[in-house]
Amino acid sequence: MPPSPKLRKLLLIDDDERQEHLLQLLLAKFRREHFDLEYVSSYEAGLKKLASGNYAVCLLDYHLGERNGLELLREARIAGCDTPVFILTAEDSDELDNAAMEAGAVDYLVKSALNPRLLERSIRYALKLGDTLAQLRQLAQRDELTKLLNRREFSRILNEEWDRSARFQRPFTLVMVDIDFFKKINDTHGHQAGDEVLRHVASLLSGQVRTVDRVARYGGEEFALVMIETDCRNAAEHIRRLGLLLADLPCIVADKDLTIEVTLSAGVADSQQGATSATELVEMADKALYAAKKGGRNRIVTADGTVIPFK
Ligand SMILES: [Mg+2]
Repeated sequence: MPPSPKLRKLLLIDDDERQEHLLQLLLAKFRREHFDLEYVSSYEAGLKKLASGNYAVCLLDYHLGERNGLELLREARIAGCDTPVFILTAEDSDELDNAAMEAGAVDYLVKSALNPRLLERSIRYALKLGDTLAQLRQLAQRDELTKLLNRREFSRILNEEWDRSARFQRPFTLVMVDIDFFKKINDTHGHQAGDEVLRHVASLLSGQVRTVDRVARYGGEEFALVMIETDCRNAAEHIRRLGLLLADLPCIVADKDLTIEVTLSAGVADSQQGATSATELVEMADKALYAAKKGGRNRIVTADGTVIPFK
């Protein structure tokens, strides 16, 4: 039996309603890929659907009433959409070729020259390229051991969040977390057990934050969190609950038959406590973390000096 074809969603945005039918005819003749077609005719509806990220690929008409597809594509890219997009156009043009590429399109396709083989092949190449780019992004942005964001990606997000927060006068909080006596864990139980502890804490941290928040492995046994629309006090309370959860869930290293109790120290600073840059905010949170360590560990210290024990 041949492998069952993969069904995926394809989005068509075109103000000419006949295009939907024409595209259905082309899709029906595909040999390997099979797509469910969704069609919208307006700019606004198209942007909303494309930005949802729910499509394997999008075909986007160049002339969309008063507006054009490239504008729509630029808006979608700014909103973080990375769906492969083809610009559909009535005529071949070098100018459009460049503009489409600049706007972030995979390619442009001339409507009159479309045939099933060309379209299917173009889409297959775009999907393959998309997968490869996603793998590269994963490698560039994630920490290999914990799969959390790495420090470089975290710093990028932190700076972005700092700008957004300053522009809209909205608070956000930076939390620095450090595993207590980590070196001792490594020395006593070996690095493999140490790695287990890092993964354990990482999965607890990422499992307990909201999807809008960001968690990174900042270095060694240090983690960092950006919690948006949250002030220092609320973030500290969140971290306190997380610490209590960790106290109930020690790290179990199955193949060594080991249970390792883990405690944390945390430093918390929010964007409205006087820092004038993202770098200064990091310094404030770092200083608070240092105070938590120095004060005896297993506690949270906030930038205003409040000490909150986990127990
Ligand atoms: Mg049109």
